[in-house]
Amino acid sequence: MSEPLPSAPHTIDEFVRAYEDSGKLRGFRCPGCGLVTATWGLACSRCGAADLVETELSPTGKVAAYTVLTVPGDEFLNDAPYAYVVVELDGGGRVTGWMPTVRREADLAIGERVRFVPSYKPGVQFAKDPGPAATG
Ligand SMILES: [Zn+2]
Repeated sequence: MSEPLPSAPHTIDEFVRAYEDSGKLRGFRCPGCGLVTATWGLACSRCGAADLVETELSPTGKVAAYTVLTVPGDEFLNDAPYAYVVVELDGGGRVTGWMPTVRREADLAIGERVRFVPSYKPGVQFAKDPGPAATG
């Protein structure tokens, strides 16, 4: 006999809709090991704990990887070129999104600060975030 699957307090549909409805990034925190992830799942990818707690993710982070797309999907036809980005959020969690304001590779850099921008467009949209003025 195998263990029954843990019951899910959340569904993928609810999780995706929350991006549009609340204007907030949602993720999960593992009460066992503290791992924060933006990836929907029933169990912690690090320690296997099944009682993940839904949590609000930071809207700010740093660009971990990006590429500029000139041949977009149908939903983004009028937005190309734009950057497809992987963002490492402050406090944990890694999400993929897009940046309509970035039109050339030279317009963005790895490690650059970005901020989640709620949008009527599909996907998770980011914009550059200068953050608080740097002080010497
Ligand atoms: Zn864990």
